[in-house]
Amino acid sequence: MAAIFSIRRNDPPEEQVSISDTGTNVLLTVLVLAGSALAETDSQRRLIVWLAEQKLNEGICRGFSLADMPWDADSFEADRQFMVRTADAASQKTGWQSLNYWPNAKALMPMLGWFRKGFVRLKAADTDPAVLTHWLSEMNDDDPVQCGFPRCRKHRAYLTWNGCIACR
Ligand SMILES: [Zn+2]
Repeated sequence: MAAIFSIRRNDPPEEQVSISDTGTNVLLTVLVLAGSALAETDSQRRLIVWLAEQKLNEGICRGFSLADMPWDADSFEADRQFMVRTADAASQKTGWQSLNYWPNAKALMPMLGWFRKGFVRLKAADTDPAVLTHWLSEMNDDDPVQCGFPRCRKHRAYLTWNGCIACR
């Protein structure tokens, strides 16, 4: 099994990228570590928590489109640039020292490069504000997103309802 990522849901296969399950979990983890270090606003914290949620209990993520992340229409441009910086910071191994393993940088760099390029190319018109509204409406009241965005003490990663992506 592998996860398939695209910028927009209907992008042609040649513009999509396929990443192994293990690679995907490491990729999501390093993006969350970097984004947790850089996030300055709640809309940015939400994007990072959402990314962390994509690593499921079973360790399987089928992939997603960058356009289907819960973008806030009011701050799309600033948040898009934040995600570009997050991909850069992940490439610079931000937060890796907190992990109990050392990610395979050589394998990760092309994937982080794909994500960076994807966030550079993503446009507000590609996104749907209803995605954010729907995601928030399905949350329990005690979801970390509704409770001040607590972080893991060990990894400093923003927590999901299912805990810390790096502890799991
Ligand atoms: Zn943790």
